[in-house]
Amino acid sequence: MDGILIVMSGFSGAGKGTLLHRLLNDYDDFAFSVSMTTRSPREGEVDGKDYFFVTKEKFEETIKNGLLYEHATYCDNYYGTPREYVDSKLKEGKSVILDIEVQGAMQIKEKFPDTLLVFVTPPSIAELKRRLEKRGTESAETIAKRITRAKEESKWIDRYEYIVINDDLDTAVKEMHDIVLAQRFQTKRCGTFIKEIQNELLSF
Ligand code: 5GP
Repeated sequence: MDGILIVMSGFSGAGKGTLLHRLLNDYDDFAFSVSMTTRSPREGEVDGKDYFFVTKEKFEETIKNGLLYEHATYCDNYYGTPREYVDSKLKEGKSVILDIEVQGAMQIKEKFPDTLLVFVTPPSIAELKRRLEKRGTESAETIAKRITRAKEESKWIDRYEYIVINDDLDTAVKEMHDIVLAQRFQTKRCGTFIKEIQNELLSF
């Protein structure tokens, strides 16, 4: 069965990162698309694993060379999806997860209409603020910017096919996996298998 492209968007602080790590840990049919960014690494982030951290010049050169599927500016930094990795993982039959914001999500959906769009939210905005503050890696100014951005992003939620409310992590991981599983078994994604059984039946 072919791998599918999954876009996971959500407010900064929705717990997308944790959800993603758990999915990648618990199930081996997923691959994470490592993005390129001009933002500085947070403590504990590893270049090439969490992001490819690059300069603005390098990012702009990568855009110019057509090596990104999409890119966007988010809170003063560039973020983008390198093509090569996504292509190679899809070919291996993996479901590739893109953790990207809404502008990028819409660009991907336009290029690849079969992409599954999932929006991850915390159970409430009070909880969102609490999580952002608890993370302790951002200044009050950055947190305020991210909340303002969340306001904008909330207008796009109904363009997504599914929503995952990340309250209890175990439940959210299971729900996310169930959503992807259901997509994989859509008849339109199982064309090769369907042809095989139809052809076999012809010989009876
Ligand atoms: P953070 O700085 O918290 O890691 O990410 C900020 C936002 O950028 C998140 O909403 C995240 O989903 C988004 N993002 C990360 N990588 C990409 C990317 O490659 N393209 C786009 N468009 N957004 C991204």
